[in-house]
Amino acid sequence: MQNVAVPSFTKDATAPRFAEVALPLPLRQTFTYSLPLGLRENVKIGARLLVPFGKRQLTGYVVALHAELSEEIEIEEEAIKDALELLDAEPLLTEEIIRLTQWTADYYSASWGEVLKASLPAGVNASREQIVSINSSGRDELLKLSSKNLSTAKAQILQHLAENAEVSMRQLAKNFGASAAARCVRELVKLNWATSFQRTLSVQAKPKRRKAVRLLPTEFHAANTKPLTEAQVRIIETLIAGDGEIGFTELIENADASASSINTLEKRGILEVFVREVWRDPLRDAKIPDRQNLILTDEQAGVFQKIENALKAETYEAFLLYGVTGSGKTEIYIRAMRAALGNDKSALMLVPEIALTPVFSRRLRAVFGEEVAILHSSLSTGERFDEWRRLRSGKARIAIGTRSAVFAPLKNLGLVIVDEEHDGSYRQQESPFYHGRDVAVVRAKFADAVVVLGSATPALETFHNAKSEKYVYLNLPNRIGNRPMAQTELVDMREVFRQEGKEAIFSPQLLEAIEDTYRKGEQSIILLNRRGFSSFVLCRSCGETIRCQNCDITLTYHKREQSLVCHYCNFRARAPRKCPFCDSQFIFFIGEGTEQIEDILKRKFSSIRIARIDRDTTNRRKSFEETLLAFGEHKIDMLVGTQMLAKGHDYPNVTLVGVVSVDAGLGLPDFRSAERTFQLLTQVAGRAGRGLLQGRVIIQTFYPEHYALRHACNQNYEDFYAQEIRFRRRLNYPPFVALACITVHHENYNYAFDTAQLLRECLSSVNREGNCRVLSVAPAPIARLKGEHRMQILIKSATRKKLRELLDFGLHEAQEKACDLRIVNVEIDPVNLM
Ligand code: ADP
Ligand code: ZN
Ligand code: ZN
Repeated sequence: MQNVAVPSFTKDATAPRFAEVALPLPLRQTFTYSLPLGLRENVKIGARLLVPFGKRQLTGYVVALHAELSEEIEIEEEAIKDALELLDAEPLLTEEIIRLTQWTADYYSASWGEVLKASLPAGVNASREQIVSINSSGRDELLKLSSKNLSTAKAQILQHLAENAEVSMRQLAKNFGASAAARCVRELVKLNWATSFQRTLSVQAKPKRRKAVRLLPTEFHAANTKPLTEAQVRIIETLIAGDGEIGFTELIENADASASSINTLEKRGILEVFVREVWRDPLRDAKIPDRQNLILTDEQAGVFQKIENALKAETYEAFLLYGVTGSGKTEIYIRAMRAALGNDKSALMLVPEIALTPVFSRRLRAVFGEEVAILHSSLSTGERFDEWRRLRSGKARIAIGTRSAVFAPLKNLGLVIVDEEHDGSYRQQESPFYHGRDVAVVRAKFADAVVVLGSATPALETFHNAKSEKYVYLNLPNRIGNRPMAQTELVDMREVFRQEGKEAIFSPQLLEAIEDTYRKGEQSIILLNRRGFSSFVLCRSCGETIRCQNCDITLTYHKREQSLVCHYCNFRARAPRKCPFCDSQFIFFIGEGTEQIEDILKRKFSSIRIARIDRDTTNRRKSFEETLLAFGEHKIDMLVGTQMLAKGHDYPNVTLVGVVSVDAGLGLPDFRSAERTFQLLTQVAGRAGRGLLQGRVIIQTFYPEHYALRHACNQNYEDFYAQEIRFRRRLNYPPFVALACITVHHENYNYAFDTAQLLRECLSSVNREGNCRVLSVAPAPIARLKGEHRMQILIKSATRKKLRELLDFGLHEAQEKACDLRIVNVEIDPVNLM
C-alpha cells in the first residue's frame, strides 16, 4: 500500500536523515533509505537518488524526507540501506507534480515510481550497465590456452576481453548470444579471471553547448591602439548586428573571417569566447505563418466570455466545449491561453497523439512565440529535453503536447485544455496505465485552474458529466460562417455486390465522386478503418489464415516488401508462395490495406497525385510532416490513410472524404465499438468542406442499418448519445458503473491461469458486502500476445470508491498469498477492452 502521507514541504529545521524513495518498479510501495552525511545537506524532495535495491542499483525519486523514522515504517533502523548518490542538485520534480503523480498512482493502482518516471522526458533517467574486464590471472590463463582450446565460447570471450579493456555485458550478449555470454561471464568471474561491476551511464539527454562570441564593454579593451584589420572590423560589425552575441561558427561564416582573427580580438579584450547552451527548437527550420487576427463570432464570444470569467475567478471550474467540427474551437483555445498568460498564469494544452499537426504548432508559435514549448513523442530526445527544461525554468509558460505532457512542469497553472477529449490516445496502453484527460481534470482541480474539454464527439462519460452538471456545458452548434456540414451518404455494399457480381473495394459512387472532385481541382481524403482489420493471407483450399507465432492475430500483408508483419509484436516473415498448411497454390492476399488502396487508385486515376499516410509511412516524422504540408499546399490531390487522417486537420480545399470499409470496427468485442465508429465517422466528415466549398462524405458499409452509422450520417450527436446511453444503462457499462480490467499474462498458460484464479479468489473474498461484481476469469479478446497467454478479469462497481477499496484490499490479500503480481496489470476505467 502507498501509505505515505502527502509530503510536507516546509523545511525541517533538523537535517533529514532518511529519504522516502519511489522506485520505477511495478511495486505499489515506497522505500526508505538512510542518507549518508554527504547527502543530508543537499538532498531535496523531487531530486533523483541512486539507491541499492537487491543486487541492483536503481534511480529513484525522493518523495519525502524525515528527520526520524516514523512509527508507520515497519523496519529496523539497522536494516535500512544507505543511498548511494544524489543525481540532481536542483530537483527535477516540482511539488505539484509529486502530488499529481501520487494521486495518479493511487487512483490507477499503479506504481508511483513508474508514474514519476513517465512524467519526466525520456533521456534524463540515468541508467546502469554491467561492465566486464579481464584481470591479470585471466591474461595468464589465456596465454596457457593452446590455439586448439580457443574455440570454446568461454575462451573466445576471454580473448575478446583481453583485446578490449572494458566490455559491456550488452556488447558481449550481442557478439556471443545473451545466454552464452551470461553463462561464460559467470564462470570467468567465479574463476577470478575476470571482474564485473556496474557503471552509471551518463544520462543520454544533455544540454547542447556551443562556442559563442560576445562583445565586451569598452573598459576591457586593451590600451594599445593598433588599428583593426578589415576582417576584424567585419567581425565587430557582425557582432553588433547580432546584438553583441553570436555563435562561433556562425560568426566565422557571416563575417567571412578566420578563427585566428577572433582569437586576436579576444586577446585585445574586445570580445570574449564562451560556451553557451543552445536550444534545440523543434520548429527551428519551420516557416511560421502570419498571425491571424480574427474577430470572434457571437457564438464564440459567448463561450469565451464564460471561460474568461472563470479564469478571472482563479478557482477550479470544468467546461465541456461541445462544438461541431469547424465551429472555431481552436480560436477559443488560443484566446483562453492568452487570457491565462495575461493573468500571469501558465497554460497546458493536450492534443491527441497524431493531431499535433505541424500546421497547428506553427500557428501557436506565430501567436505565442517562444512562450510555447512543444512536448511530442516524435521529437528527438534532445529537443524534448530542451522544451521540458524551458518549462521547468519558466522560460516557456505554455505547454502543448500529447498524453504525458499532462505532467509538464508548469508553474502557477491557470488553464488546462484537452482538445478532442474523446480520443483514445489519451489512454496510456501500457504500465503505468492512466488517462491523460482525467489526470488533466484532477491537475486543474489541485491547481485551482480552469479546464476545458473540447470535442465535436464528446466521450459518453464526458457528455454524461455535462448533463449531470459536473461540467459546465458550452456549445458551438454551427460552423464558422454558417458553412454547411458536409453531405453524408451511406453506400450499401451488399447492393454493389449484387450489381457487380463480385466483391468490389470501391463502389461506383465513390469512384465517380473521386473523379469529379479531381476535375474540379479539389482535394480528397480516402480513409480505411483499420482497427481490428488487416489485409491478411487466406488459403482458398483449407481456409486457414496465416497468424503470428507469438500473438493471436493475423499477419498483415505488405505488398511492397512482399512480407507479412504482426502489428502487435513486429514479427516479420516473407510472404509465402504456397499455403504453409496444405501446400495449396491458391493462397489469397485479402483485404484492402492502405497500400493496396493506394495502388488501385493510382492505376485507376493515373493523373491524380496520391500520397499515403499510415503507421508504416509515419515512422519518420519528417516524411509525415512533409506529406501533410504538401497536401496543405495542394501539391498532392489525394491522401489515403487510416484513422489518423480523421483527426483535427484543417484543409479548406478538401471536399470529398471517402470511407472504404467502416464495418470492421463495429464487430469488435468491446462495448465502446459503436461509440468509436460514430466518433470516427463524425470526425472524418468534419474534414470535408471546411472552406467555402460544399463537402461530401461517402461511407461504404455492409450494415447501413446500424444506429452508429445512421446517426453519424445525420451528424446528430445528441440522438446518438440518447440511444447509446440507454444501452449502457441497460447492460451496466460506464458511465453507470466503474470498471476495472485486470489482465494476467505469462508464457505458460497454466501459470497465467492459476495466477488469475488465485487473484480472483482474493478479490472475491474481500467483496463480502457484494458492492462489486467480479466476473470470472476469461481469455482476453487477444488471447495471446507477444508470446504470452492473456487472461482477463472484469470488475464492475456502482462507485469508484468501492472499486478502489476492493482493489486495494484484494491486491493486498493477493500479495499476502504470494500471488505473482508482476504478471498482473490493473486498468482502472479501461478505454480499450481489446
Ligand atoms: P474546430 O477546431 O472547431 O474544428 P477551427 O477552430 O479549426 O474549428 O475553425 C475552423 C475554421 O474557421 C478555421 O479555418 C479558422 O481559422 C476559422 N475561424 C475560426 N474562428 C473564426 C472567426 N471568428 N472568424 C473567421 N474565421 C474563423
Ligand atoms: Zn505478433
Ligand atoms: Zn491451405
